[in-house]
Amino acid sequence: MKSYSRKKSPWIIHFSCSGCNGCTIEELASLTPRFDIERFGAQFRGSPRHADILLVDGVVNKKVSKRLKRIYNQMAKPRVVMAVGACATGLGVFRGNYGLEGPLDKVLPVDVFVSGCPPRPESIIDGLLKAIKILGEKD
Ligand code: SF4
Repeated sequence: MKSYSRKKSPWIIHFSCSGCNGCTIEELASLTPRFDIERFGAQFRGSPRHADILLVDGVVNKKVSKRLKRIYNQMAKPRVVMAVGACATGLGVFRGNYGLEGPLDKVLPVDVFVSGCPPRPESIIDGLLKAIKILGEKD
């Protein structure tokens, strides 16, 4: 029953690291009626304790990495991590910067990678569907 409800209403916590916010704008677009991410039961929540999916965009720098790990550790299991955009998946335009911790998969175990700079809402929704599937398999 728990697994059924997670698959039907996966709640997302969004963490934007230090990118240009282009990915965040596309994520917000996916919430609008045109793309309507809520038709999959997904909602953005403010608390990691209520979330099943950690959606991260932007590049992980040394200042945010500790906070990001804390948020991840506050989430109940099973949990899924989505890296959205070129910055989170592979540093993107910030490659070579001295203050970076690395791509997201150096900091957290990433389950779903969504490419693009920024990715379109359709790609984010595609990533979300993969995340929901993995969430069901982990349960
Ligand atoms: S991937 Fe591109 S759009 Fe997204 S935060 Fe990085 S630079 Fe901005």
